[in-house]
Amino acid sequence: MATLPINLISSLEEKYSRLWWSVEEERVYEEAMSDPFKALVFTLLSQNTSSKNTHRAYLSLASRFNVDPWTLSRLDEGELAEALRPGGLHRVKARRLKQLARRVAVKLHGRLDALLSLPLDEARRRLKELPGVGDKTADVLLSRIHGHRRAYVVDTHMRRLALRLGLVSEGASYRDVQEALMSFIPWSEVPAEKHERLVGLLWLLAKHTCQARRPRCWECPLRVICRKGKA
Ligand code: SF4
Repeated sequence: MATLPINLISSLEEKYSRLWWSVEEERVYEEAMSDPFKALVFTLLSQNTSSKNTHRAYLSLASRFNVDPWTLSRLDEGELAEALRPGGLHRVKARRLKQLARRVAVKLHGRLDALLSLPLDEARRRLKELPGVGDKTADVLLSRIHGHRRAYVVDTHMRRLALRLGLVSEGASYRDVQEALMSFIPWSEVPAEKHERLVGLLWLLAKHTCQARRPRCWECPLRVICRKGKA
Protein backbone atom coordinates (compact mmCIF):
# COMPACT_ATOMS: atom_id res chain seq x y z
CA MET A 1 0.00 0.00 0.00
CA ALA A 2 1.23 3.53 -0.83
CA THR A 3 2.66 5.69 1.91
CA LEU A 4 3.09 9.42 1.87
CA PRO A 5 6.65 10.26 0.75
CA ILE A 6 8.26 12.41 3.40
CA ASN A 7 9.47 14.92 0.79
CA LEU A 8 5.86 15.83 -0.08
CA ILE A 9 5.12 17.09 3.42
CA SER A 10 6.84 20.43 2.80
CA SER A 11 4.72 20.86 -0.37
CA LEU A 12 1.60 20.29 1.72
CA GLU A 13 2.76 22.88 4.23
CA GLU A 14 3.59 25.37 1.49
CA LYS A 15 0.26 25.01 -0.28
CA TYR A 16 -2.22 24.60 2.56
CA SER A 17 -0.88 26.61 5.51
CA ARG A 18 -2.63 29.71 4.11
CA LEU A 19 -5.95 27.84 4.39
CA TRP A 20 -5.34 26.86 8.01
CA TRP A 21 -8.05 27.73 10.52
CA SER A 22 -7.94 31.26 11.98
CA VAL A 23 -6.59 31.92 15.47
CA GLU A 24 -10.14 32.55 16.67
CA GLU A 25 -11.45 29.31 15.11
CA GLU A 26 -8.61 27.40 16.72
CA ARG A 27 -9.29 29.03 20.08
CA VAL A 28 -12.96 28.02 20.01
CA TYR A 29 -12.06 24.50 18.84
CA GLU A 30 -9.43 24.03 21.55
CA GLU A 31 -11.80 25.35 24.21
CA ALA A 32 -14.43 22.84 23.12
CA MET A 33 -11.95 19.97 22.89
CA SER A 34 -10.59 20.63 26.38
CA ASP A 35 -13.74 19.04 27.86
CA PRO A 36 -15.10 15.69 26.61
CA PHE A 37 -18.77 16.66 26.75
CA LYS A 38 -18.14 19.98 25.00
CA ALA A 39 -16.11 18.09 22.40
CA LEU A 40 -19.08 15.78 21.79
CA VAL A 41 -21.40 18.76 21.46
CA PHE A 42 -19.04 20.56 19.08
CA THR A 43 -18.65 17.46 16.91
CA LEU A 44 -22.37 16.78 16.86
CA LEU A 45 -22.93 20.38 15.73
CA SER A 46 -20.39 19.89 12.94
CA GLN A 47 -22.36 17.03 11.34
CA ASN A 48 -23.37 18.05 7.77
CA THR A 49 -22.28 21.61 8.53
CA SER A 50 -19.40 23.87 7.44
CA SER A 51 -16.81 24.76 10.05
CA LYS A 52 -17.95 28.39 9.97
CA ASN A 53 -21.53 27.42 10.86
CA THR A 54 -20.33 24.94 13.48
CA HIS A 55 -18.41 27.72 15.20
CA ARG A 56 -21.40 30.07 14.97
CA ALA A 57 -23.73 27.51 16.53
CA TYR A 58 -21.30 26.54 19.29
CA LEU A 59 -20.47 30.14 20.20
CA SER A 60 -24.14 31.05 20.28
CA LEU A 61 -24.92 28.06 22.51
CA ALA A 62 -21.99 28.72 24.85
CA SER A 63 -22.89 32.42 25.14
CA ARG A 64 -26.37 31.52 26.45
CA PHE A 65 -25.89 28.37 28.50
CA ASN A 66 -23.31 26.32 30.32
CA VAL A 67 -22.33 23.56 27.89
CA ASP A 68 -22.71 20.67 30.31
CA PRO A 69 -25.04 17.65 30.27
CA TRP A 70 -27.16 18.76 33.22
CA THR A 71 -27.92 22.22 31.83
CA LEU A 72 -28.58 21.09 28.27
CA SER A 73 -30.74 18.12 29.27
CA ARG A 74 -33.03 20.39 31.32
CA LEU A 75 -33.53 22.93 28.54
CA ASP A 76 -36.64 23.08 26.45
CA GLU A 77 -35.94 21.85 22.89
CA GLY A 78 -37.21 25.17 21.50
CA GLU A 79 -34.75 27.15 23.63
CA LEU A 80 -31.93 24.94 22.44
CA ALA A 81 -33.01 25.30 18.81
CA GLU A 82 -33.08 29.08 19.17
CA ALA A 83 -29.51 29.06 20.50
CA LEU A 84 -28.35 26.85 17.60
CA ARG A 85 -30.17 28.83 14.90
CA PRO A 86 -27.05 30.72 13.64
CA GLY A 87 -25.52 27.42 12.50
CA GLY A 88 -28.53 26.06 10.58
CA LEU A 89 -30.32 22.70 10.93
CA HIS A 90 -31.08 23.98 14.41
CA ARG A 91 -34.25 21.98 15.14
CA VAL A 92 -32.72 18.61 14.24
CA LYS A 93 -29.55 19.41 16.15
CA ALA A 94 -31.46 20.65 19.20
CA ARG A 95 -33.30 17.32 19.35
CA ARG A 96 -30.09 15.30 19.03
CA LEU A 97 -28.25 17.46 21.52
CA LYS A 98 -30.97 17.13 24.12
CA GLN A 99 -31.05 13.34 23.71
CA LEU A 100 -27.28 13.17 24.02
CA ALA A 101 -27.18 15.45 27.07
CA ARG A 102 -29.92 13.47 28.79
CA ARG A 103 -28.16 10.15 28.20
CA VAL A 104 -24.82 11.46 29.48
CA ALA A 105 -26.48 13.05 32.52
CA VAL A 106 -28.60 10.04 33.44
CA LYS A 107 -26.56 7.02 32.39
CA LEU A 108 -23.04 8.36 32.91
CA HIS A 109 -23.82 10.75 35.77
CA GLY A 110 -22.61 13.57 33.58
CA ARG A 111 -19.07 12.27 33.25
CA LEU A 112 -17.27 10.81 30.24
CA ASP A 113 -13.82 10.45 31.84
CA ALA A 114 -14.22 6.84 32.99
CA LEU A 115 -15.51 5.79 29.58
CA LEU A 116 -12.66 7.55 27.78
CA SER A 117 -10.05 5.87 29.94
CA LEU A 118 -11.16 2.42 28.77
CA PRO A 119 -9.03 0.61 26.17
CA LEU A 120 -9.46 2.22 22.75
CA ASP A 121 -11.86 -0.28 21.12
CA GLU A 122 -14.01 -0.58 24.22
CA ALA A 123 -14.18 3.21 24.59
CA ARG A 124 -15.19 3.52 20.92
CA ARG A 125 -17.91 0.90 21.35
CA ARG A 126 -19.30 2.61 24.45
CA LEU A 127 -19.20 6.07 22.87
CA LYS A 128 -21.16 4.78 19.88
CA GLU A 129 -23.96 3.70 22.21
CA LEU A 130 -24.68 7.39 22.85
CA PRO A 131 -27.38 8.98 20.67
CA GLY A 132 -26.00 10.76 17.59
CA VAL A 133 -22.48 9.37 18.07
CA GLY A 134 -21.05 7.38 15.17
CA ASP A 135 -17.52 6.32 14.28
CA LYS A 136 -16.36 9.79 13.27
CA THR A 137 -17.68 11.57 16.35
CA ALA A 138 -16.23 8.89 18.62
CA ASP A 139 -12.83 9.18 16.93
CA VAL A 140 -12.77 12.96 17.28
CA LEU A 141 -12.70 12.39 21.04
CA LEU A 142 -10.46 9.34 20.94
CA SER A 143 -7.87 10.96 18.67
CA ARG A 144 -7.35 13.61 21.36
CA ILE A 145 -6.30 10.86 23.75
CA HIS A 146 -4.69 8.23 21.53
CA GLY A 147 -3.59 10.43 18.62
CA HIS A 148 -4.54 10.12 14.95
CA ARG A 149 -1.97 7.40 14.65
CA ARG A 150 -4.40 5.09 16.50
CA ALA A 151 -7.76 6.82 15.98
CA TYR A 152 -7.66 8.67 12.65
CA VAL A 153 -10.85 10.62 12.08
CA VAL A 154 -12.47 9.66 8.77
CA ASP A 155 -15.00 12.09 7.37
CA THR A 156 -16.42 12.37 3.89
CA HIS A 157 -13.38 14.33 2.62
CA MET A 158 -10.84 11.83 3.91
CA ARG A 159 -12.85 8.88 2.59
CA ARG A 160 -12.90 10.45 -0.88
CA LEU A 161 -9.16 11.12 -0.74
CA ALA A 162 -8.35 7.57 0.38
CA LEU A 163 -10.49 6.17 -2.42
CA ARG A 164 -8.92 8.32 -5.14
CA LEU A 165 -5.39 7.69 -3.92
CA GLY A 166 -6.13 4.00 -4.32
CA LEU A 167 -5.72 3.20 -0.63
CA VAL A 168 -9.15 1.55 -0.45
CA SER A 169 -11.86 0.35 -2.82
CA GLU A 170 -15.38 1.64 -3.27
CA GLY A 171 -17.62 0.47 -0.44
CA ALA A 172 -14.77 0.13 2.10
CA SER A 173 -15.93 0.25 5.71
CA TYR A 174 -15.10 3.11 8.05
CA ARG A 175 -12.48 0.95 9.77
CA ASP A 176 -10.90 -0.09 6.44
CA VAL A 177 -10.50 3.55 5.41
CA GLN A 178 -9.20 4.46 8.84
CA GLU A 179 -6.59 1.72 8.79
CA ALA A 180 -5.54 2.63 5.25
CA LEU A 181 -5.03 6.27 6.25
CA MET A 182 -3.14 5.27 9.40
CA SER A 183 -0.81 3.15 7.24
CA PHE A 184 -0.47 5.91 4.62
CA ILE A 185 1.18 8.37 7.00
CA PRO A 186 4.85 7.81 7.86
CA TRP A 187 4.27 8.63 11.53
CA SER A 188 7.69 7.60 12.78
CA GLU A 189 9.40 9.96 10.33
CA VAL A 190 7.41 12.97 11.53
CA PRO A 191 7.93 14.52 15.00
CA ALA A 192 4.97 13.63 17.26
CA GLU A 193 4.07 17.29 17.81
CA LYS A 194 3.59 17.66 14.02
CA HIS A 195 1.19 14.72 13.60
CA GLU A 196 -1.94 16.76 14.10
CA ARG A 197 -0.64 19.43 11.74
CA LEU A 198 -0.04 16.86 9.01
CA VAL A 199 -3.51 15.38 9.47
CA GLY A 200 -4.95 18.89 9.14
CA LEU A 201 -2.94 19.65 5.98
CA LEU A 202 -4.14 16.45 4.34
CA TRP A 203 -7.71 17.31 5.25
CA LEU A 204 -7.31 20.75 3.65
CA LEU A 205 -5.98 19.06 0.51
CA ALA A 206 -8.96 16.70 0.46
CA LYS A 207 -11.43 19.55 0.89
CA HIS A 208 -9.92 22.22 -1.35
CA THR A 209 -8.00 20.30 -4.03
CA CYS A 210 -9.46 16.80 -4.13
CA GLN A 211 -12.93 18.29 -4.38
CA ALA A 212 -15.89 15.99 -4.74
CA ARG A 213 -17.12 17.13 -8.15
CA ARG A 214 -13.98 18.29 -9.89
CA PRO A 215 -10.66 17.32 -8.33
CA ARG A 216 -7.88 19.81 -9.14
CA CYS A 217 -5.32 17.13 -9.94
CA TRP A 218 -3.12 19.45 -11.99
CA GLU A 219 -2.16 21.41 -8.86
CA CYS A 220 -2.24 18.54 -6.33
CA PRO A 221 0.97 17.76 -4.39
CA LEU A 222 -0.07 14.09 -4.23
CA ARG A 223 -0.52 13.65 -7.96
CA VAL A 224 2.72 11.66 -8.33
CA ILE A 225 1.44 8.95 -6.01
CA CYS A 226 -2.29 9.11 -6.80
CA ARG A 227 -4.04 6.40 -8.75
CA LYS A 228 -6.69 8.79 -10.08
CA GLY A 229 -4.25 11.68 -10.62
CA LYS A 230 -1.99 9.51 -12.78
CA ALA A 231 -4.87 7.94 -14.74
S1 SF4 B 1 -4.23 13.85 -7.74
FE1 SF4 B 1 -6.39 14.42 -7.99
S2 SF4 B 1 -7.57 12.66 -7.33
FE2 SF4 B 1 -5.48 12.41 -6.57
S3 SF4 B 1 -5.51 13.24 -4.51
FE3 SF4 B 1 -4.86 14.87 -5.86
S4 SF4 B 1 -6.74 15.96 -6.43
FE4 SF4 B 1 -7.33 13.99 -5.55
